[in-house]
Parts: sequence; structure tokens; C-alpha cells
Amino acid sequence: MTRAAIHATIAAMQAPTQAGEPGAPDASAGGPAWTAQAAVFLDIDGTLVPHEERPDAVHIDAALRALLERVRVAAGGALALISGRSIADIDALFSPAVFAVAGQHGAERRGADGRLHFHSPRASRLRGQAERLRELVRAHPALLLEEKGASLALHYRGDPALGGLAEREARRAVVALGDDFELLAGKFVFEVKASGRDKGSAIEEFMAEEPFAGRRPVFVGDDLTDELGFERVNRLGGDSVKVGAGPTRARWRLADARAVRDWLSGLGATGGDGAAQGRKG
Ligand SMILES: [Mg+2]
Repeated sequence: MTRAAIHATIAAMQAPTQAGEPGAPDASAGGPAWTAQAAVFLDIDGTLVPHEERPDAVHIDAALRALLERVRVAAGGALALISGRSIADIDALFSPAVFAVAGQHGAERRGADGRLHFHSPRASRLRGQAERLRELVRAHPALLLEEKGASLALHYRGDPALGGLAEREARRAVVALGDDFELLAGKFVFEVKASGRDKGSAIEEFMAEEPFAGRRPVFVGDDLTDELGFERVNRLGGDSVKVGAGPTRARWRLADARAVRDWLSGLGATGGDGAAQGRKG
């Protein structure tokens, strides 16, 4: 990927944090009203659970697992997790529950039928860059490198002042790897990931399959990388829900992971059309 293309990618992702679309109304407070025709897509970190300093410090409690299982039943099985984490990592987090899931920003996906789909260049191609970034982390222990198989994530949450360094080094890896990879900026993280796939493309792939097809997609996420999912869901005529503050393309907004759970509880409890908090503005 060229430097110019990287700049364009980051600029496109960051656009809503700068101004939003001129004249676009801000997201409405609350989540959309529940419909039994919903297809539910959920980000994990910052959406279902608060961000932790290290991704491996996140814990999924039994109550959340049970809630998601109820929502899945209420939505006719149409529930999928959409995350930057790897599927292996997500399965370990939610064990013993197993969900339809898109991992590594859509580079890997498991449908509701259990079939796996991979859309990534050979993971072995990342080896050289992973070694270089490991060295960087040895020199700056506040940085954290996640090696997810098809992607690398360089976290700087441990010392936000290292953000510039993290971006430069992740960018250098992308330039070295060429067109099959791109840089993705998230909250205190830069990711080196397969190009051409994102949370939006993952949602669209699910929507072409049972039991998602023909339903109304709703996607809930908190990060810059989720904006691509919001955009896709808006285009599909569904509901996009931003978690937390900040400009967004999403049409709805919930305050935090606790508010997401409360909203999901409404879905899981009614199992059909019912009132939800918030309203369309
Ligand atoms: Mg998130």
C-alpha cells in the first residue's frame, strides 16, 4: 500500500471525528426499538465490556453470555460478534458459548452454520514485520504487540505518548508488506491487517447468509474501525449504534457498555416488537 493510500484510509476513518457530514443530525440518544426481524451485530471491546489496558485482561461474565444467548434466540439465531480480535481469542473469551463471529476486522469469519471463511494473505508474510515490532516493544515495554495470525496490533494504551511512534512503526510495516495489507487506526492501537476487508464487509457477508438474510441489521460498536460497519448498515437500511462520545456516522448512541447491556436486555426479554429506550430524532 502506498503512503498516499494509507493517508487516505486513515483520513476516511477519522473524518467523523473531525466534523461529521455537514448538516447530518447527531445520533439519537438510546438504542433503536426492538424488532423480531433484527439481525444483531456486536463489537466486543468497549461495546459489551469496557476497554482494559491489556486485551487479555478482559473477562466475559456468565450473565453477559446468557444475555447474548437470549438475544440470539429472540433474533431467530441472527446474532454475530464483529471484532478486531481473532476468532480463537473470541471463542476462548466466551467459552463455552460459541457465536457466529467475524474476527480480525473481517479477515476471518464463521457463519451461523459453523463454516469458516478466510480472506487473508498468508500469515507467514507477517513474520519479518512481527519480529521487528517485537524488538520495538522490547525497547518500549509500555507498548504491546498482539500477533493475531492474519494481523498485528500495536497497542499504546499503556503510554499514549508513544502513539506517534506506534503509528510510524506500524505504517512502516504496512509499506514493507505491500498492497495486501493496510493500516487501521483504533483506540490506542494501530493494526496491520489484510486490506479490502473490514467490519462493514463482514456484516454484508453475514447478511447474504441464513439466518441473517432478509432481516434488519443493527450494529453496535464504539471505535473508529466500527464507523465502516455503521456506514454499511446505514446503506443497508438498518440501525447503527455508537457507544460513547464522539462524532459518528451512527444513527443512535448508547453511553457505555452498561447501557448496551440494558438495551440488549430489552431485546432478550421481549422476544418481539416492544418499546426500547430512546427514539428516532
Ligand atoms: Mg470496540
